[in-house]
Amino acid sequence: MIVRKTAAELEKMRRSGLLVWEVLQKTKELAVEGATTMDLEVAAEKMIADAGAKPAFKGYYVPAAGEAFKFVLCTSVNDEIVHGMPNLKRVLKKGDIVSIDTGVKLDGYYGDSAITVPIGEVSEQTKKLLQVTQESLELAIEKVRPGNRLFDVCGTVEKHVKGNGFSIVREYVGHGIGTQLHEEPQVPNYVDRKNENPKLKPGMVLAVEPMVNAGKPEAMVLKDKWTAVTRDGSYSAHFEHCIAVTENGPWVLTRP
Ligand code: MG
Ligand code: MG
Repeated sequence: MIVRKTAAELEKMRRSGLLVWEVLQKTKELAVEGATTMDLEVAAEKMIADAGAKPAFKGYYVPAAGEAFKFVLCTSVNDEIVHGMPNLKRVLKKGDIVSIDTGVKLDGYYGDSAITVPIGEVSEQTKKLLQVTQESLELAIEKVRPGNRLFDVCGTVEKHVKGNGFSIVREYVGHGIGTQLHEEPQVPNYVDRKNENPKLKPGMVLAVEPMVNAGKPEAMVLKDKWTAVTRDGSYSAHFEHCIAVTENGPWVLTRP
């Protein structure tokens, strides 16, 4: 069942969304050559605590991993797609890209957003990867409006990414969000005809999160049980926003 939120609930989700945005702005500033991914984690954890919120990921149990995640951020560098873990030994270098993904729970409601940040100058191919992934999210956001269907959102990401010669990760998908971090519906970055194609209605909130590989689409999980990487070692980019369906169109909750 897809839970539709009231206007008052959306206002609460707006507050968690803006906190997530602030955390991503701060961690983006800190993501420079010579910093470690743990530097980002430490700053993010403090900001979330200072705001009186709870981290959404830290303590989140995932059956496939057989344990709970230990960090407030996922920091996924280069060929890491998602669920990378902050690490004191992971020093960011010029030419790297790092996906920073975080979520919070504030007053009972979740926010969830991700950005991918280049470290110094990156290759032309990598610049294009980041640009196309971000564009695919922006184009999909425009589809989050009453009368459209879920496949309009999924298909928009798919078309833009494939049309630019990149590939879409199939193992990980976006999701509904509200009082739970992951609610129905699943939001794949491609049209999955085996899934339902519900009509979008006011009050629904979708976390749309294209995960795009420069090379082939296949993913695998490292021995740490969390970090998803590209099988071919190609770089992967990830952007995410939470978007509410309103009578007036899309409302991106996770940016001002
Ligand atoms: Mg998400
Ligand atoms: Mg996320």
